[in-house]
Amino acid sequence: MTKVYEGECLCGAIKYRVTAEPIVSGACFCRDCQKTSGGAEAHGIMFPASAVTVVEGEPETFSNTVDSGNTVFRQFCPTCGVHVISWNSAAPEYKAIKVGTLKDPSDYRSQGSLWVSSAQPWHRPDPDLPQHAKMPCVTELAVAP
Ligand SMILES: [Zn+2]
Ligand SMILES: [Zn+2]
Repeated sequence: MTKVYEGECLCGAIKYRVTAEPIVSGACFCRDCQKTSGGAEAHGIMFPASAVTVVEGEPETFSNTVDSGNTVFRQFCPTCGVHVISWNSAAPEYKAIKVGTLKDPSDYRSQGSLWVSSAQPWHRPDPDLPQHAKMPCVTELAVAP
């Protein structure tokens, strides 16, 4: 049976549910992810977009152009500002959820570290996992070569 992933923002106004097996997961150290995560890396899990459903609340969407030239869309709670879901213009058929917003993130395991060239000296990538210097951002995992 497919596992159900449920999560919410900090204030609980935005709730989402995912009913699919994860495609890929990872920790992104890019500067955008540092800003949205609060300083360190952002951990994300990629799913088929059709399996990711906002079941409560109305998230707002912020988009910006990233290093690859693609546009990254990040959905966040307009009340508490926490980012919950993101995707990339090059692969809108996939969406990534922020691991920290899961009800139970304890089962999560990162498969690799992305954009480690931007990692801060006080926060280093896991030495036991594959490391990628630049591409892809966690929001671009599905479009990476
Ligand atoms: Zn909220
Ligand atoms: Zn990133």
